[in-house]
Amino acid sequence: GGVDISLAIKVGVQYSLWGGSVINLGTKKHKEKYFDKIDNLEYPGCFAMTELHHGSNVQALQTTATFDPVTDEFIIDTPNDGAIKWWIGNAALHGKFATVFARLILPLQGKGGEPADMGIHAFIVPIRDLETHAVLPGIEINDCGHKIGLNGVDNGALRFRSVRIPRDNLLNRFGDVARDGKYTSSLPTINRRFAATLGELVGGRVGLAYSSVGVLKVAVTIAVRYALLRQQFGPPKEPEISVLDYQSHQHKLMPMLASAYAFHFARAYLVDMYSEMKKTNDEDVTADVHVLSSGLKSYITSYTAKSISICRESCGGHGYAAVNRFGGLRNDHDIFQTFEGDNTVLLQQVAGDLLKQYQQKFKGGTLSVTWNYLRDSMGTYLSQPNPVTARWEGEDHLRDPKFQLDAFRYRTSRLLHSVAARLQKHMKTLGGFGAWNRCLNHLLTLAESHIESVILARFIEAVKRYSFCAVT
Ligand SMILES: Cc1cc2nc3c(=O)[nH]c(=O)nc-3n(C[C@H](O)[C@H](O)[C@H](O)COP(=O)(O)OP(=O)(O)OC[C@H]3O[C@@H](n4cnc5c(N)ncnc54)[C@H](O)[C@@H]3O)c2cc1C
Repeated sequence: GGVDISLAIKVGVQYSLWGGSVINLGTKKHKEKYFDKIDNLEYPGCFAMTELHHGSNVQALQTTATFDPVTDEFIIDTPNDGAIKWWIGNAALHGKFATVFARLILPLQGKGGEPADMGIHAFIVPIRDLETHAVLPGIEINDCGHKIGLNGVDNGALRFRSVRIPRDNLLNRFGDVARDGKYTSSLPTINRRFAATLGELVGGRVGLAYSSVGVLKVAVTIAVRYALLRQQFGPPKEPEISVLDYQSHQHKLMPMLASAYAFHFARAYLVDMYSEMKKTNDEDVTADVHVLSSGLKSYITSYTAKSISICRESCGGHGYAAVNRFGGLRNDHDIFQTFEGDNTVLLQQVAGDLLKQYQQKFKGGTLSVTWNYLRDSMGTYLSQPNPVTARWEGEDHLRDPKFQLDAFRYRTSRLLHSVAARLQKHMKTLGGFGAWNRCLNHLLTLAESHIESVILARFIEAVKRYSFCAVT
């Protein structure tokens, strides 16, 4: 990603999205058939979830996969223009397969013999001939056109007209259809299956948070180096000074440099948690990784997007020369804020989880690993006066990492407590959806505040670890 973000995204689509969906949503038979050929690029593929009319609201997707018990196949259809799969990476040029997210329809199995809609499932659909690379019958593929950035990625639109695929192509880890058309699942409801399906796709968000930190490092390095070399003005009759010696310049660049370090450690923590989740399948760790990856992806990519512009501006006119990379970095990275989950939507998942934990806490439940601090904070901080105003103002105290972390956590606790009370109040008149919307900015601030405290905690821990190494 530090060299060419399009390349990172192409690789991400192939291995994390296409490969990840087959491995994580499929079962042994899929792994045996596809893994090696995905791995060695013999089977380039796509991840076809988003439609023209629905991106964030995945549960509202309209593509259908109807089971045909006579031929033992699924029939994939795009029922209207709004259901055309859109923005699909690797579709316009290279993909030979697509994991298509569609509503599973079982004829005659609904109430009164109506078709039963079993919700969103994932299917492997071949889209191009393995030998000739020609687009297969019933499939229409178009390029989504020139983009603001990432033009090394071939995003395409896919339409399906009665495309038949074998029953085996259903990625059946969370729900299966037998030869006689009977549906089985270890999970009892459509919502639980949907959550489990999306939960398996967190790897993409982990990857984006990770590479966004890489982009931030590149931009900040260019800007800091330039700021040291570039000289402008100075005291009368003396040599000009480096622009980094201006207080304003330090205020622009140094927080970004510090954040790049802090994010570096936070992302390492996220990757560790992700590998633990993959190894153990522990439910608590999985829930944690889901929320942590949403929060960090969202927070870091928004921060990096804003920072690239500040870095460009910090290099003056030379920052605008394409050769100095800020334009490319900014345009290629900008979409990190939207794909793999829009940042505003993801932050709401963080807020939702905090509220859930808050409720459980009051019902005597336990808190999951990342949220553990809330156990102390809700018990302790809320009963205490504000730690920022009530304690000393000495430099030692203000610079003490423990105090700083306390202050961050106190802020989250207050936000959590106050938004819970507001939601409860508005719920009575506005209902759940209306109350949530009335408090939306409050909820987003809560989510960001929580993520900042997680990042700070990881940073303090790393500083302690490395200063200990330096001393010993
Ligand atoms: C270059 C590129 C590559 C992509 N690659 C793929 C791919 O390979 N496969 C794939 O399936 N998809 C892909 N996508 C699609 C991408 O995942 C979606 O664009 C993304 O999920 C956002 O959905 P949307 O575009 O429908 O935005 P919308 O959901 O329509 O969002 C529009 C605006 O509304 C706001 N909004 C929406 N819902 C809420 C809410 N509940 N509360 C508050 N605000 C809200 C959002 O914050 C946003 O600002 C790609 C997109 C691009 C541009």
